[in-house]
Amino acid sequence: MTKKPIIKFSAKAIRKLSASEKRVVTKLIDAAEAISAIYEQQENSNYLGANFYPHDVTKEEIVKAARHNKAILSPYTMVEKNKKGELIAIPYHVKFVKQLEKVARLVKEAAKITQNHDFAKRLEVQANSLLDGNYETSDIYWLSLKPYKINFVIGPIERYDDKLFFTKCAYQSWVGIMDEQRTSDTTVFKNYIVSGRRKVLAPSEKVDFLDKIQIRVDDVLIFSGLIAHFMFTSSNLPNDVGLMEKHGSEITIFKPSFDIKFNAEHHPIFHAIFEGKFQQGYPIDVLKMGSLRNSYLHEISHTLLRYRDSERRLKEYFPVFDEISASIYGVKACGSLLLKDVISQKELEAIMVMFVARAFSWWTSYLKEPSIIHYAQGFAIALNYFLESGAIREAGGFSWPNFTKLFVSINELADTLERILAVGTYEDAQHFVEKYASLEIFERFRPNLKKLI
Ligand SMILES: [Zn+2]
Repeated sequence: MTKKPIIKFSAKAIRKLSASEKRVVTKLIDAAEAISAIYEQQENSNYLGANFYPHDVTKEEIVKAARHNKAILSPYTMVEKNKKGELIAIPYHVKFVKQLEKVARLVKEAAKITQNHDFAKRLEVQANSLLDGNYETSDIYWLSLKPYKINFVIGPIERYDDKLFFTKCAYQSWVGIMDEQRTSDTTVFKNYIVSGRRKVLAPSEKVDFLDKIQIRVDDVLIFSGLIAHFMFTSSNLPNDVGLMEKHGSEITIFKPSFDIKFNAEHHPIFHAIFEGKFQQGYPIDVLKMGSLRNSYLHEISHTLLRYRDSERRLKEYFPVFDEISASIYGVKACGSLLLKDVISQKELEAIMVMFVARAFSWWTSYLKEPSIIHYAQGFAIALNYFLESGAIREAGGFSWPNFTKLFVSINELADTLERILAVGTYEDAQHFVEKYASLEIFERFRPNLKKLI
C-alpha cells in the first residue's frame, strides 16, 4: 500500500450533534486514525500472507507448526521466527501494546465525555478488548445494546488481507452517525422480509436470531485500516456464525462509500447497458434508492439463507451460490412489500433495474480484482437465466417486455438457488454453474463500458 489507510468523509450529519457529542466523535476519530499505524504493519500486498507470517516460510511449514501450536493459526496473532528459527505466535494485544494503549486511552476519554450511559460502557468494553484481546465479550455487549446514533467499530475484524489462509484479522475502525430517515426504511424492509420468512419456515426451525438482526444506514466520518483499503459499502458483524446465532448481528450500510459507487459505477452502467427509451422511465433519485435498497436486501437475506452444511457440499461453488442467492432472494422478498403497498411498483422496478446494473459493476470490479470472480459468476447466472426465460431481452441494450415477467423469473431463480444451498449436491451446483455462469454476457457490453474498465 502506498497511501495512508485512512479516508475521511465530510458529513453534514455532524452539525446535528450536540456539543458534547461532537467532542465524543472527535476523540473517536483520533482513535480510529491511530489504529491505522497497526494496520500498516500488518498489510503487505507483495505477499499472500501479508505481514502476518514470516515471508521466507512456506504454507506447509506454517500448517506443520500449527499442529503443535494452535495459536499459529489464531485470527489474532502475528507469526514470527524466534532465535532458534522456530515459528512462534505473538498475540496482537502483546505485539502492538504500545499503539493499542494510545488508542484505548482515546476511546476511554470519549467514554468519559459521552452522556449516554450505555454507549460509555460500550466504549469502555471496546477499549479493554483492544488491550486484553477478549473481542468476544466486546461483541456480545455491543449486540445487546439498542442502536445509538453514534457508531464506533474498532479492532481486528476482517480476514481479506490474509490471502494465504484467510484466517488473520486485520485492524480497522470506522466512526459513523446514523441517517435516521434511511435507517427507518431499512427497518421496514427488514421487518417485512423477516415476517415473510417466518411464514415459510416450519415451526420447529430455530429462528430466534431473526429478531436480533439490526440494520442501520450511517454517514461515515472516517474509515481507517483495512476498511479504508477496501471501501466496503456495507458490513454485517460479527463474522463468527456462532455468536451471530446466539446474539444477532448488526448490518451497517455506509452511505458515503455507497454514494461514490453509485455515481462512479451503478448510474453510468445503467446508462450504458439499458435500451435508450427504457431508461427514460427511471430518474436518478429513483435509481439511487433502488440501488441502495439492493445493498440492504442483500445483507438482510444473507442472514436468512444460512445452511450449516452447504459449504461442505458445494465446496468451491459455495461462494457463488451464497452471494447470488442473497441478492436474488432480497428482490423476491420485496413482493410482500408490494402487496402491502409499502413500496410502489415503480420502486420495485427500480430495485430490479439496479440489480441488473449492479451485476455489471461486479464484473468491472472482477476485471480489476480477479479474486472476486464468484460475484461476477453469480450475477452472470442471474442475467443468463433471465434472458433464457424471456424475462429480459437484449436489443440495443437491455429492457424487459413487462415488469411481471422479470419478477416471476426472479421468484423461480430464488427458489432454485435456495434449493441448491439447502440440499443440492456438488454436481447440482457444478451443472448449474456450467449452464448459466458464463461471463460472455458481460463481455458483449464491453464496448459500451470502456470508460469504466
Ligand atoms: Zn454478500
